[in-house]
Amino acid sequence: MRAHAARRARRVLARAAARRGRSPCRRRALIPSSCVCGFARTGGAAAQGVSRPQRRVPADGELCVATATNATNTAAEHAPVGGISRALLDAGVVTPEQLAYAERVRAKLGVERPLFDLLREIFSIGDARLRDALERQRDRLKLGELLVELGYLRQEFLELALSIQRDEKSKGERRRIGEILIDHHLIDETKLAEALAIHLGFPLEAPGLVPLDAALVAELSADACERHGFVPLRRHEGRVVVAFSDPMDPDAVAAARAAFGADGVAPAIAERAAIRAALARLAGRQAPAAPVAASPSTVVDLLDEILDEAIGAAACAIHLEPRADGIALRLREDGVLSTRRVLPLSLAPALVHHLRVLCRGEDGSDVTHFVHRSGAQTCEVRMASCAIAHGERIVLRLLDVGATPASLDAIGASPLLLGRLRAELSRPSGLLLLASPPGGGRSATLHACLAALAGANTALAIVESPGARRFEGAAQFVRGRDRERFADTWLRALAQDPDVIALDEIDSPESAQAAVAAAAAGRRVVATCAAEDAVGAYLRIAGFGVDRPLLASALGGVLAQQLLRRVCDTCAQPDVSRTARRFEQMLLEPDGRFLAGHGCAECRTTGFRGRAGVFELLGIGDDERRRWIAEHASGDSLRAASVAAGVVTLFEDGVARAARGHVSIAEVARRLPPAADGRSLAEILGRTGR
Ligand SMILES: [Zn+2]
Repeated sequence: MRAHAARRARRVLARAAARRGRSPCRRRALIPSSCVCGFARTGGAAAQGVSRPQRRVPADGELCVATATNATNTAAEHAPVGGISRALLDAGVVTPEQLAYAERVRAKLGVERPLFDLLREIFSIGDARLRDALERQRDRLKLGELLVELGYLRQEFLELALSIQRDEKSKGERRRIGEILIDHHLIDETKLAEALAIHLGFPLEAPGLVPLDAALVAELSADACERHGFVPLRRHEGRVVVAFSDPMDPDAVAAARAAFGADGVAPAIAERAAIRAALARLAGRQAPAAPVAASPSTVVDLLDEILDEAIGAAACAIHLEPRADGIALRLREDGVLSTRRVLPLSLAPALVHHLRVLCRGEDGSDVTHFVHRSGAQTCEVRMASCAIAHGERIVLRLLDVGATPASLDAIGASPLLLGRLRAELSRPSGLLLLASPPGGGRSATLHACLAALAGANTALAIVESPGARRFEGAAQFVRGRDRERFADTWLRALAQDPDVIALDEIDSPESAQAAVAAAAAGRRVVATCAAEDAVGAYLRIAGFGVDRPLLASALGGVLAQQLLRRVCDTCAQPDVSRTARRFEQMLLEPDGRFLAGHGCAECRTTGFRGRAGVFELLGIGDDERRRWIAEHASGDSLRAASVAAGVVTLFEDGVARAARGHVSIAEVARRLPPAADGRSLAEILGRTGR
């Protein structure tokens, strides 16, 4: 018997391993593998909604597998026997040894499997025997525990529901655990009813489809029926069939028995909404409207759906903002936030809790990110939250960690600028600054520059913020990890003997000084910085207290950029707006027109699809160095001088792209710093090659 069971257990383990290999879990395992016992995952911290898997010492009088079997295996030690296990033990369906054995197999599986399934599989216990045992013991089982043990509900969701129940109780409200689970979308009501019907043998009823016996309801008050969530349906073989929304709620069962006699009740199960509707119909009232259900039935499905939707729309961030009327779900697409829909506010606690569970490190530590797989795409999701009036405001930033960096040709720069940028990159030393406003695409351009520099003869080191894309073949260093000082991270990167060292981004005096010092010492440094344009980037670095002559001598060039929304190809039409008319005289053809999208299904009526980059490259020659060293040089005078030296500004590059119909002229006028006295379009096109 024992050898037979061991063979079966080996097969179970092998199948679990094969499953892991074949279709990797959509997310990393939620439960640390060091946690050995599914029944030992309740913790005191659950009350605060910050539960963490931890082992629980059995309470006094609680049966424990280890004590029941004298097993010496430490894994099963102190694992308290849950409701189902105890029921199966008491009914004589399993022996304590079998139970302990199944526990140990489960501990080794590494994937979550309900103990119930394992017992069935390893010891070939038939469904009928299990159901019979549970049916006989069902008065002693607790709904939440049962759902967890059967694998219908996660332990942490049960803990959340219990903490909500405790909170409500302290305020004098009383709700059944089943109600809380359904209201907070922690379990699908149909699934719950099915689970109880399948495993406990409660017949599944549909009170809406059968005529009710008014005389039966009259024996109780309709209020009592509604309060306890049940409705008597009919007499059958001397008993009254009563449909309960939670047939395991002792108070509800007691109320029904008080009316129809201790042995006079045949409990059945039905969905709560159906019970309410039937009672309302009987009282001649309109059936209450069903609550607006989000299409996915649980928060797990809902979050998966939201993440898939955002990834499908190529959004870079998801905003979940609780308001008085619900949670606004907004996506940032092409740099602009748009509201997708409003979710029921009742989802908020479960959704936040679920996200917190996902953002839990393998070792139980709190981190701020998790991995989500959508089709072939793997995204890192970084979460930030803050408390506002109606709950917690959540921002999830999505990062396609598996994406390969774009090539320089794909960043959208004009052909002539690209040629000058390549020349700039080929210099053996000096600092190349990449500047853009936040969200302007400078980090992507940094990776494109590094991809152009990478090669068999080049060693790359990148110092960047957490959550950056992976870069094949480069030594990547995350800033601020484990509270490491910037200077130490920078030294570790330099110790890799890099030919090119990249810094994303210069945002402090020490990062500015480190980058400039390394460039002045003869290294090739490529760094990003947040600034409106090229001169702004220079002034920002100088503003960090870097010695101006040193900065001017180390700086090789500044590439500034901005991303504009691209006009939707499908619905682009001549732009007749006032802004367009103001700029029209710049166009070369007398009857030429700028283009703008008017909205179609392809662009979800926004008129925009995708983004287009505009660029400005400031090469630093001797003239610039002399000018820039002067302490008093203002931004305006430096900008005027750079235009005079032939630099095409961001605005002018934007006008060139608008003239080509890539972006709307209104977008150019709104998003880019205006040029002083612009050049003619012909001259701009000549200087950019667009
Ligand atoms: Zn369109």
